[in-house]
Amino acid sequence: MVHSFSPGETEDVGRKMAEGLRGGEVIALRGGLGAGKTTFTRGLAVGMGLPDEVSSPTFALVNEYRGKNVTMYHFDMYRIMNAEALETTGFYDYMSEDSVIVCEWTENIEGCLPKNTVNITIEHMGEDVREITVEGDERFDGFRY
Ligand code: ADP
Ligand code: MG
Repeated sequence: MVHSFSPGETEDVGRKMAEGLRGGEVIALRGGLGAGKTTFTRGLAVGMGLPDEVSSPTFALVNEYRGKNVTMYHFDMYRIMNAEALETTGFYDYMSEDSVIVCEWTENIEGCLPKNTVNITIEHMGEDVREITVEGDERFDGFRY
């Protein structure tokens, strides 16, 4: 678990974490509106050598950031209410060894994500303070920033 005291620091945590990604991961981001899920994803993108102009995929459902070795698919599942709806997004077709899938708002589809999903929870502790917890993947056990 790590604490962040600014948006830039949350990006840095994402950037650091990206160093441990190889491709094939699904990353679920929890935390309410304004927690910093998109901010964290921006850091992940930078860490993966992708462009940093990451914006919320709320309307597009999924944004694609294509890098040299890896492609990041950034989903916003806010409107996805069940397994059937998830299926229609084509989510499972995006999973591959050379992609990293990052999902915001997975609360309605928890049981549908792969077992080895990396779960990141961002808790709003105060105005600029966030607590970031990484669970579900032993590679990130004891993750320190
Ligand atoms: P979400 O995608 O979870 O809705 P965003 O990343 O879009 O959240 O927005 C987070 C908001 O919180 C931004 O306005 C950002 O500037 C602000 N913020 C303040 N402190 C932090 C912090 N420590 N980490 C991340 N965002 C922060
Ligand atoms: Mg967001």
